[in-house]
Amino acid sequence: MATLFISDLHLCPSRPQINRLFLDFLAGPARQADTLYILGDLFEYWAGDDDLGDPFNAEICAGLQILSKSGVPLFFMAGNRDFLAGDGFASKAGLTLLPDPALAAIAGANVLLMHGDTLCTDDEAYLNFRTEVRSPEWRKSFLALPLDQRKAKIEALRQESEAQKRAKPTEIMDVNPAAVLQVLTFHRCTRLIHGHTHRPALHRLEVAGEACERWVLPDWYESGGYLACDASGCRLLGWPPAAP
Ligand code: MN
Repeated sequence: MATLFISDLHLCPSRPQINRLFLDFLAGPARQADTLYILGDLFEYWAGDDDLGDPFNAEICAGLQILSKSGVPLFFMAGNRDFLAGDGFASKAGLTLLPDPALAAIAGANVLLMHGDTLCTDDEAYLNFRTEVRSPEWRKSFLALPLDQRKAKIEALRQESEAQKRAKPTEIMDVNPAAVLQVLTFHRCTRLIHGHTHRPALHRLEVAGEACERWVLPDWYESGGYLACDASGCRLLGWPPAAP
């Protein structure tokens, strides 16, 4: 049995084919998994746990809950889009919230799990924004706003961030190699798994004389994909599987 990792699905009502693909994934490969880790940006946005009654959110949470009830442990680490997902979401979806970064023993090895945005240290404007919105004060005052006001503000932020992304050079949107070295050294791990950059790949590197792996998860824009790890190692797989 393998441990599976996904991230950056960016689920939203306007992309029904990806939502279908995700529910199929939950009923398919995820059912056979040892554990499923969701490493952020499951949702395109999350306005707060009081939005669980929204039919779209309810359908996704129900799919996760069914998987959880079937006996597959589910872990969720927030991404930059869904960092407002909290205990209400966790209980509705039957999953356990993880901090970022988190360490997990997977197939006997200590693995470092991250969403990936904090590795993009060249994007200072974004990191400043992140520090602001992740503060307990910001969270508290934002969640105190009425739900429709929060949604309007998020929509405005999304449009601003899209415009900024188009203006930024692509290099600063990727991880900074020194930041990768720093986290692997600090946490004494030889394997790092993260998403966020939408640049799925295996990067091999050496840290203090040790061979390390950095696995980057795929996004779910055109189709899906996941990372499967077991005692023999990890591999990136497409979803749905490519025709033989
Ligand atoms: Mn992200």
